[in-house]
Amino acid sequence: MNRRAFLKAIGSAALLLPRLPSRIWANTGFIRRRPSDATWPSDAAWKRLNDAVGGNLIRVDFPLTALKMDPNSDSARQLVENLKNPYFIGDEPGLTQTLGWVDAWATQPSIYAVAARNANDIAEAVNFARENNLRLAVKGGGHSYQGTSNAPDSLLIWTRHLHDITMHDAFIPQGCERTVKPQSAVTLGAGSIWLDAYDAVTTKGGKYVQGGGCTTVGVAGLIQSGGFGSFSKHYGLAAASLLEAEVVTADGQIRIANACTNPDLYWALKGGGGGTYGVVSKLTLRTHDLPEFFGSANVKVKASSDDAYRRLLRKFVSFYREHLFNDHWGEQAHFDADNVLEIRMVSRGLDTEQSKKVWQPFLDWVGRSPGEYSIEGQPRIVSLPARGKWDVKWWNEHWPELLFPNPNGNRLIGILDRLLSYVPWQPAMRLDKRPGAPPNEAWWVGDAGQVGWFIWGFESLWMPASLLESDAQERLVNALFEGSRHSEIELHFNKGLAGAPPDAIAAAKDTATNPSVLSAFALAIVANAQGLAYPGIPGHEPSVEEGRKAAQRIEKSMEQLRAVSPDGGAYLSESNYFEKDWQCAYWGSNYPRLAEIKKKYDPDGLFVVHNGVGSDRWSADGFTKL
Ligand SMILES: Cc1cc2nc3c(=O)[nH]c(=O)nc-3n(C[C@H](O)[C@H](O)[C@H](O)COP(=O)(O)OP(=O)(O)OC[C@H]3O[C@@H](n4cnc5c(N)ncnc54)[C@H](O)[C@@H]3O)c2cc1C
Repeated sequence: MNRRAFLKAIGSAALLLPRLPSRIWANTGFIRRRPSDATWPSDAAWKRLNDAVGGNLIRVDFPLTALKMDPNSDSARQLVENLKNPYFIGDEPGLTQTLGWVDAWATQPSIYAVAARNANDIAEAVNFARENNLRLAVKGGGHSYQGTSNAPDSLLIWTRHLHDITMHDAFIPQGCERTVKPQSAVTLGAGSIWLDAYDAVTTKGGKYVQGGGCTTVGVAGLIQSGGFGSFSKHYGLAAASLLEAEVVTADGQIRIANACTNPDLYWALKGGGGGTYGVVSKLTLRTHDLPEFFGSANVKVKASSDDAYRRLLRKFVSFYREHLFNDHWGEQAHFDADNVLEIRMVSRGLDTEQSKKVWQPFLDWVGRSPGEYSIEGQPRIVSLPARGKWDVKWWNEHWPELLFPNPNGNRLIGILDRLLSYVPWQPAMRLDKRPGAPPNEAWWVGDAGQVGWFIWGFESLWMPASLLESDAQERLVNALFEGSRHSEIELHFNKGLAGAPPDAIAAAKDTATNPSVLSAFALAIVANAQGLAYPGIPGHEPSVEEGRKAAQRIEKSMEQLRAVSPDGGAYLSESNYFEKDWQCAYWGSNYPRLAEIKKKYDPDGLFVVHNGVGSDRWSADGFTKL
């Protein structure tokens, strides 16, 4: 839907809104309480809340204060190390995985947090916040780039400890006994992160669940964003796998949401945005049979001139269209200003030989022009048993075979492989090395740069599959080339569903995510950031000027892409904090329906997040009703 059509569509809804008997539009000027207000809850009131939640109310520390006070102390140095570990950050209610964004936000702790152990704890916290006019924040995995799980002067509902997991052979959503067939599924506590889910479902259970790529992202945050994983080109949107959620709404009720019970709320939870409709306490997701293999293809090609790079992009785009535009292939290609094309793709259901066969024509083409193209390092095209994909133990033992494959059974390579498998290190995953940490706490090396980072700019845009038609490919190539002159462009093929099987498309259609995703072959992402940084920390100050310049370059790069995809829309979880027309960009024609559901379940706007449904009625800090 283009912007004009969108405004027309919501225009008619907007005209109706003031006449509706809803409280969301009333009470203009209503202000939530802060600790400095005389009406802030008394110590006795907080004690009553603590008693009601079984002693799980905690005063929230801000670990970064120690870095500000004494940056050279041993404990500060240890903290800097810990801030490279997403599990450490996730275990701190006062921290978030992204520490901030230049000119947008910097993480700040809540005053108190309820470390919820069950839905009743959540309901107590919701009632307390509503009755005392408090700003409420909800945090799961803490991975929001937009800072939507932190708010200063707030009460936090922290779901970290809700991580029970149950597998089902034949799950039927409550109330759907007559209409829905039993299916295999998994129920996850809302504080689970994706590695918990993959560990239970794939490593231990031999099944597959569609979640996110990053192992430490929270399941509830990702599902409510829409959510993509490496293999979404086959299994579809993660949100489309949601069969049922238990959710505490603003009135403190613990509700079930599924296709038969509260179906409107259920639909809104499938991509309508986290922290908006209530607090999810657990969710049940469809599971699938596991394919035999997952794999990857990593190739880095450098062109010797701009002209050669254009030819390389032309070749890659047509090769993608012909050989990779299907549900076997996902993840990314990067296009940068140094005329490097970096392919970091993943495969599903292909063994190593089959994958190599797919790539051979492209590698041959590159190899035929050694003066124009050089392959940096060795192309690595490998497959592994799918069950090993998220198994830390498997990676510890088998990584040498992937890095130094030995198809001819060379004895020396065999011995080297075996010796290396005893080395307490592996190249794919980083491990949580804190004393007492479980051995299966790990994150991909490719995600390590985002732990504790401070964003300079981040934008995304869905790219329609029509750009892959032969008469449109040149426009796409031009946009990629010209855009990459300003800032590196990433195409995430698994985040556009064109090329996915019909059932995955149909299920995604029944979610709140912008319908642009259905006809997009990829999501383009252009982003830049710096490593560990936070205002006021000596040696780790955000580089504001550099960040602003980077944001301008990102904008210029995106202008080139928007010229060929003017109505693409953006993926809400991976988008610009300053997104223009965010309602249209994130949800397209689904926004009016989402706004109606918001009014029904949260008429007073207890749940507010930056650029969330209904947030346009609140000040930027979520304290004042406009
Ligand atoms: C390193 C990294 C990699 C990523 N990779 C991917 C990827 O591969 N695919 C993808 O689709 N996205 C990806 N994302 C984006 C990610 O999916 C979203 O940011 C997601 O919302 C994070 O969820 P969370 O629970 O970890 O974060 P949080 O910051 O805790 O939560 C995100 C939002 O959801 C709300 N929320 C959290 N829990 C609940 C709950 N129980 N009930 C109601 N609201 C809740 C919060 O209030 C907040 O508004 C990535 C992000 C990062 C930082």
